[in-house]
Amino acid sequence: MSAEKPGLEPEIWKQLVKPKTGPIWSFYCAICEVPRKLKLDWNLNRPIHWVRIGLTTAVFTLATFHWFGWKGLVSFVPFWTLFEVSYRLRIRRHSRCPHCGFDPFLAMTNVPQAKAEVARFWAQKFEELGVEVPAQEPLPQPPSAEKPAQVTQT
Ligand SMILES: [Zn+2]
Repeated sequence: MSAEKPGLEPEIWKQLVKPKTGPIWSFYCAICEVPRKLKLDWNLNRPIHWVRIGLTTAVFTLATFHWFGWKGLVSFVPFWTLFEVSYRLRIRRHSRCPHCGFDPFLAMTNVPQAKAEVARFWAQKFEELGVEVPAQEPLPQPPSAEKPAQVTQT
């Protein structure tokens, strides 16, 4: 889309039309090192969320006033719970790398399962391409800490 508008100078038009900005979280994937950007707001405690949930609660309370009365205001708690769960699930879904299948949240809590997820992702990729999955050689292990280092005296 061109930023030029007939009758206006391009520089003036660029000043009038600003790109939408918002909370953008930019980072590099820990495995494939691809730069990534997520347009998600990590702060759940913003006033706009409280206002939205409050309006939802108000509408729910008014719609069910015949049955619940003012007790319908308690629905704020389950609405907030639903919002927070869905929001966190959305963040988690978007944070998974589409290039290598790395899930940073899973890696923070369960590293072996995160490795298995990456392996599963690549197995699925190879299967989609119709290529046999290459056999993995075990990674070289660091020297064991149990084995004492040999000290040579001169
Ligand atoms: Zn990645």
